[in-house]
Amino acid sequence: MFDIILQNANAVLPSGLALSDIGIKGERITAIAAPGSLFSDRARVIDVAGKLVVPGGIDPHIHCSRPMKISSGEKFTSGSPEQVSRAALHGGTTTLMDFVQCHPEETLEHSIGETDRLWEGQCYSDYAYHMTLHGSVPPKQLDEIGEAIGRGYASVKMFTTDLTPSRRGRMLNYGDIWEVLKIVAAAGGISAIHAEDNDIVMHMYEKLIREDRVAFENMAEVHNTLSEDLAFNRIIRLAENVEGAALYMMHTSASAGVAAVERSRAQGFPIYGETLHQYLLYTAEDYKRPNGQLYHTYPSIKYQADQDDLWRSLKSGGLHAIATDEVCCPLRIKTLGKRIDDATGGNSGVEPRLCLMYTEMVEKRGFSVEHFVDLTSSNIAKIMGMYPQKGAIAVGSDADLVVLDPDAGGELDAARLHETDYTPWQGWHVAVWPKITMLRGRIVVEDGEFKADLDYGRWVPRKVSQPILSGTGV
Ligand SMILES: [Zn+2]
Repeated sequence: MFDIILQNANAVLPSGLALSDIGIKGERITAIAAPGSLFSDRARVIDVAGKLVVPGGIDPHIHCSRPMKISSGEKFTSGSPEQVSRAALHGGTTTLMDFVQCHPEETLEHSIGETDRLWEGQCYSDYAYHMTLHGSVPPKQLDEIGEAIGRGYASVKMFTTDLTPSRRGRMLNYGDIWEVLKIVAAAGGISAIHAEDNDIVMHMYEKLIREDRVAFENMAEVHNTLSEDLAFNRIIRLAENVEGAALYMMHTSASAGVAAVERSRAQGFPIYGETLHQYLLYTAEDYKRPNGQLYHTYPSIKYQADQDDLWRSLKSGGLHAIATDEVCCPLRIKTLGKRIDDATGGNSGVEPRLCLMYTEMVEKRGFSVEHFVDLTSSNIAKIMGMYPQKGAIAVGSDADLVVLDPDAGGELDAARLHETDYTPWQGWHVAVWPKITMLRGRIVVEDGEFKADLDYGRWVPRKVSQPILSGTGV
């Protein structure tokens, strides 16, 4: 009655770490029991004694097959779902969240269809999409948002900045954001925000260009701390005035952003903070290193005090998720831009995220394994409306499981990863590495051997739970 039994698993269950046998039938976990108590003649029995078994990682923020802005005018499209999901599974991440680019001149249904065309049958892992609105949102599109949320596209992303002078047309004005917040709230969705103050950011581009200080390493002066302070507080105040609204603050990078999220949350508002692993482990000083661009994504990496606050807040429950903002490309493309106004955002990291964060959190900073699982999987599943199908080792959940092997750790090396020809994590130590990655009951990676199937990856419809919408869910 089982297809696979994981025996003697040190498993991170919703109730905490427990030595267990895990029984899997078809795509689901069908039994969790005391060690030695599950049997089946026909099952493959795998003894995982001494290994840590966690729910498959979920990366809530990646970008596949995106046309990249390159100053030379060269056309380049970022890594495909096939490329990125292969790397993700190798590293123990089983669900990826990308974005539907909802352009004002198209219906949402058309934009979702365009995104499906890139993903369906072309992704090894499971996946979901946020909807990203652009520019001035036409009334017709506003009408479609509620319906799309009802169909499982439960999160809507909005920008409060155009990001760079050459990317005009991306941001929404606060009036439109206010309107969208109301629609998303009424439909039971969650709003995901890229919050930077556009006036400050564009002012700093103009100022630094005028002062001839355009070198890339000045990026943190442009996408600066004050900008995060102003934008986070403004968007949060706006949302706090919308009945039923809930916010997911993407890539929180500065002390000011942390403080804004914590202040609102302390007052009972349903707000959740995401940060990126780059912000946790690099600072703006790293921009000065050779090929410093490879650490960059938007908003910029900040300073040591900001990084310290990100860690403090993660530990105390003020921030809830760790993402990569993956935009996969070769080193040559990533380092082509050398100025503040022609650098590329995003970087590679979807493969090492899980084990790198395990090492930095559990091994180095005293986080519990349960908290590590929350920040890289369970919280994300809850906030984004996939729990307990995803993000849980529980009876009835998808059998997305990762067996982390403490004997398989070592130094990260781009040549042995499966993303691209560089990694921002070159030479970093990881204390564990997946021995087995399982997606919906299928072993997709085992001892480094890749066994996944492109047509097995599936879109995950999402519905945000009431506890998340009321602020008590994580
Ligand atoms: Zn992003």
